[in-house]
Amino acid sequence: MRIGVVSDIHSNLEALSTVIEAMGAVDQLWCLGDIVGYGPEPNECVSVLAGTRHLAVAGNHDRAAIGQMDLEAFNPYAAAAARWTMGRLNVASSEYLSSLPTTLVSGEFTLVHGSPRDPLWEYVLSVDVARRSFDYFGGPFCLVGHTHVPSVFTLEGGRVRAERIVGERELALDQPEARFILNPGSVGQPRDGEPRAAFLVVDTERRSACWQRVAYPIERTQERMRQVGLPERLVERLAHGL
Ligand code: ZN
Repeated sequence: MRIGVVSDIHSNLEALSTVIEAMGAVDQLWCLGDIVGYGPEPNECVSVLAGTRHLAVAGNHDRAAIGQMDLEAFNPYAAAAARWTMGRLNVASSEYLSSLPTTLVSGEFTLVHGSPRDPLWEYVLSVDVARRSFDYFGGPFCLVGHTHVPSVFTLEGGRVRAERIVGERELALDQPEARFILNPGSVGQPRDGEPRAAFLVVDTERRSACWQRVAYPIERTQERMRQVGLPERLVERLAHGL
């Protein structure tokens, strides 16, 4: 099975459409949460995703958009965007977002937004957090998002290694002695200093995971954000990938 793994779409329809086209034919799309928040097209992104054969878990921004997350924990820009999203969501999108679980298991893979220990909030950025995270899922692979930074953490022989993925990278998954936490990076708001949209393709037959980047028309997303009055800080950061 060929699986397209996406995360942190953040209402960026231009980025999502470009990624779906770039990944080519996949049997399933797996989405690691934060479908909405920050960007200008929440309903359109939900509808594109809901129209594919897919699995999805909830992110903190998805919960905020349906009023199930205290905005106190958000920075002022994120909170402003969350309020805007809340007022914009149609009934179908709200129902869809309300239906999302925080954790899903599909075969050897566990899917969460943050970490398997704290699926809505914890960031797996450090070796310490990664080490603890390995105790909270079964099987060899956990897929996480939330940090917007493509990366892989490997547990092997009791040691945890961290690697940030720069550009494209293929990883062999047929390593029976190792377990992995894989982060595809963000479709709609990359934060690793690289503005191109990020995604991951997992091939369960070839036993491989392949990180990829694709350029999308950022200025179109920015224009729509300005039209609807989203904070300028959020508009600008898309161009820098930070
Ligand atoms: Zn996010």
